[in-house]
Amino acid sequence: MSISDVLAEYDRIQRQNETEKNRRRRQAYKKVPELKEIHEKVKTLQIERLKQSISGHSGDKDEILALQEKAITLLTDAGFDQHYLDPVYTCPACRDTGVIDGAQRCGCFKKRVLEDKLDAARLTDSSVSFEQFNIDIFDDKPIEKGKSQKDQMVSYKQVAEAYANKFPDCLPVLLLSGGIGLGKTYIAKCIMRRVIERGNTAAYYTAYRLFSLFHRHRLGENIDLDPIFEVPLLIIDDIGTEPMTRNVTVEYFFDLINERSGLHTIIVTNLPFEEINARYGERIHSRLMDTRHSQKIIFRGKDIRY
Ligand SMILES: [Zn+2]
Repeated sequence: MSISDVLAEYDRIQRQNETEKNRRRRQAYKKVPELKEIHEKVKTLQIERLKQSISGHSGDKDEILALQEKAITLLTDAGFDQHYLDPVYTCPACRDTGVIDGAQRCGCFKKRVLEDKLDAARLTDSSVSFEQFNIDIFDDKPIEKGKSQKDQMVSYKQVAEAYANKFPDCLPVLLLSGGIGLGKTYIAKCIMRRVIERGNTAAYYTAYRLFSLFHRHRLGENIDLDPIFEVPLLIIDDIGTEPMTRNVTVEYFFDLINERSGLHTIIVTNLPFEEINARYGERIHSRLMDTRHSQKIIFRGKDIRY
């Protein structure tokens, strides 16, 4: 996609919202036929007023205002919200034009361009969400201090969901650590989905894919890493499984963590913490472990896949 594709997207949104506005009108007119008459009358008066102002007269506004007030009363009496027939905008700030004050790009435009660049890294698997999280697949036999796997998953889920609900007012790093097959990736994707549903942009990369992009970038390929460094929430899954490449793995990982210090990063790993230190060094280890910046969920229990 290019800028013109993004602009075309605004056209599509405008048409879609226009359709929705018309649907609401038909629905309200069916229930309150008088509304339609009032709206038509207002339209006629507005056109008259416009003609008058062009010819130098200032027409009377009172009748229009009175009719508009009456329309709102009819609408609310019929059980609709008073703004139900207002224009529908996905982004009220720019009225779905992508531009504010005729010149400045709206925040939603920048978001769209970023999302466009992230493309495949934006997971849209609709089967993964906190709502669909099935806690019953976990064993409820007590395994540790009277707690079952299921009890533990319930508490991991609570912490993760709270993190997603607070985003971006939560610690910049979330570390999901523990053995294979305990649901870490699933939880990370649930957070991502919630964060996206709350209007933010997020991206998901396996460490393998991310570091291979870094490697190609290092070799001089024209790879745009900006979106990875700029996306508000970045999930890196399976840290520790990527091949270690001299002058790439540790260096790029450190740069990434460093440059993203004001943004949010979720790191999913099977590595015990001491191995993070051994593999990536003290600088990265201390960044990830510093409790002022980082929150941890340590998954314990049995692999649910077997
Ligand atoms: Zn906008």
